[in-house]
Amino acid sequence: MAAETKTTCPYCGVGCGVIARVDDDGKVSVKGDPDHPSNFGRLCSKGSALGETVDLDGRLLYPEIAGERASWDEALDLMAKRFGETIAEHGPDAVAFYVSGQLLTEDYYVANKLMKGFIGSGNIDTNSRLCMSSSVAGHRRAFGADTVPGTYEDIELADLVILTGSNLAWCHPVIYQRLAAAKAARPAMKIVVIDPRRTMTCDIADLHLAIRPDGDVALFLGLFEHLITSNAIDQNYIAEHTNGFAETFAAASSLSFNRMLELTGLPAMQLREFYRLFAQTDKVVTCYSQGVNQSSSGTDKVNAIINCHLATGRIGRPGMGPFSLTGQPNAMGGREVGGLANMLAAHMAIESAEDRDRVQRFWQSPRIAVRPGLKAVDMFRAVADGRIKALWIMATNPVVSMPDADAVEAAIKACPFVVVSDVLRETDTTRHAHVLLPSLGWGEKDGTVTNSERRISRQRQFLATPDEARPDWWQMAEVGRRMGFSQAFSFQANAEIFAEHASLSGFENEGSRDFDIGAYEAIALEEYDALQPFQWPQPAGTSPKLTRFFAAGGFYHLDRKARFVAIEPPASDRTDSRFPLTLNTGRVRDHWHTMTRTGKSARLSGHIAEPFAEIHPRDAIEIGIAEASLIEIESPHGRVIVRALVTERQARGSLFVPMHWNDSFAAKARIDAVVAPVTDPVSGQPASKNVAVRAHRF
Ligand code: SF4
Repeated sequence: MAAETKTTCPYCGVGCGVIARVDDDGKVSVKGDPDHPSNFGRLCSKGSALGETVDLDGRLLYPEIAGERASWDEALDLMAKRFGETIAEHGPDAVAFYVSGQLLTEDYYVANKLMKGFIGSGNIDTNSRLCMSSSVAGHRRAFGADTVPGTYEDIELADLVILTGSNLAWCHPVIYQRLAAAKAARPAMKIVVIDPRRTMTCDIADLHLAIRPDGDVALFLGLFEHLITSNAIDQNYIAEHTNGFAETFAAASSLSFNRMLELTGLPAMQLREFYRLFAQTDKVVTCYSQGVNQSSSGTDKVNAIINCHLATGRIGRPGMGPFSLTGQPNAMGGREVGGLANMLAAHMAIESAEDRDRVQRFWQSPRIAVRPGLKAVDMFRAVADGRIKALWIMATNPVVSMPDADAVEAAIKACPFVVVSDVLRETDTTRHAHVLLPSLGWGEKDGTVTNSERRISRQRQFLATPDEARPDWWQMAEVGRRMGFSQAFSFQANAEIFAEHASLSGFENEGSRDFDIGAYEAIALEEYDALQPFQWPQPAGTSPKLTRFFAAGGFYHLDRKARFVAIEPPASDRTDSRFPLTLNTGRVRDHWHTMTRTGKSARLSGHIAEPFAEIHPRDAIEIGIAEASLIEIESPHGRVIVRALVTERQARGSLFVPMHWNDSFAAKARIDAVVAPVTDPVSGQPASKNVAVRAHRF
């Protein structure tokens, strides 16, 4: 008889509930879970095709050492020996873990515990650095903690929804479906899309602001000033719950209207219309995603948005607030357990001696990282220059996805000891591994993930464990044990890890932090198996409930007040006479990351079958490009050759190339080889939306 299992989609940060069904003949099909409070039964094209992606073709099914099959004991013993020797000879900062928003929270927890508590280095970073670390940094600056104040329901309740740097229709399709349904039911709701490209999301927009790349800080500084001069601010909220208003007003006032027009590239009438809409509408939600985060001014953009919500007191109430939409299925779960090099665990700060002491006592660990580790781009620089001599990459493919990808590949290739844990045997990264470890894929592994609205849901196993593949947390716990930390890594089941994580979140917490799921500190295996989706926080002794933050203040800075952040608008233009075009990278509707899963579905590949570069018709004429001819795009770092898609959706002087393809699907399509390793100075997030390039007919 066919069996059905409730689980969670492994693709984007919407975190949709899925019911997976395995028929007697082994065929897998999925449908949306009508009871899941994030999607209420909806799925997008990627989620609906999950059943087509779970075969074992191309899988890594047993450990390998130097390309030869090995036993688990041989591989794990070698890893413990090599990591141990490297640490003994060169210190703990000579090793690093590069992990992934595809990991489950339990995997992330063990990775962080091993690196920060037992190896004693902060050198664990995640591909979520490329996704939402500017939002984390912005939240921490403004709120004192990495807290998303609202819920998905707010997007439906708002009278004005602003989507900035977000192609919601393609990148968070189920939120788009919820928004489109809300607008259809309540046509007076206004939607503003702020994006240099005219994306599919613009189809439901009342106003599209085709802003210049990185013009967002100027746009929201101008809005901040407009809110003050048009008397749309909430004086009481500002006085009772915030600091830094006067300095921020002074900084915003120094920006002239003409300079703002220049930096945003927007017509004055459109700008005024946007400002009027925001000032006159009480229920405003501003959603932002990679177009904001993936920028050298990403953290400032986030704070420029939050400043406007703080100034109007529109935060944490139904239908109001800034809203960071995370890219990956478990970017948020990684943030909760310290998967970023500059975080500790349970949202505690690595810079705080008190927090370090608390975590070390909880773990009873021999040491604790005393400073933040290297963020992704700097981590691979340290691999390149030999400071990092042993590297463990888990569930990610940095040779395709990191900026300056050719340099990253060369660094990995030259690293003395590289371990890759993956589900696939052949990726651009696995080919450089000294040790390959087979991991479990979606449907085979079991644990929890957290979505953009702070909702923790279970991913459940419904497929048999293939051959010798093992959970990522088990691999790390085994290495930890073999490095001499037997007791701390004696986990037998992921429920035990979740319980420890929940227990740490409430440890000596006393209500002073946002992230507390202490209600689950003694969770039993059966309870964990049956765990229903819930939003954090849920301290010990409480039941799940819908939560919003900060309507009445209660921020996490010591004085419990929020901070306005005074910001200077950056000069956004990176082009020059040699590299006169601006490259923007992003997703297509039906593929995910480097297509290791979605590439298996003919249905998904049918939407867009090959890589392309969108180019404006007049730019195409200027460089002699016809529709579908080959275009070569170059930066000082690398080049790609893809087909031209000539369209007025693309602004003049710019190109858009999707990030999914590598060099095996077309002649040359690994676009991150072209992206410069420029990062935001606060968050360390790479700037993948504003890259100076040149292009010509190939
Ligand atoms: Fe999966 Fe995201 Fe689509 Fe939901 S919206 S089904 S989480 S890819």
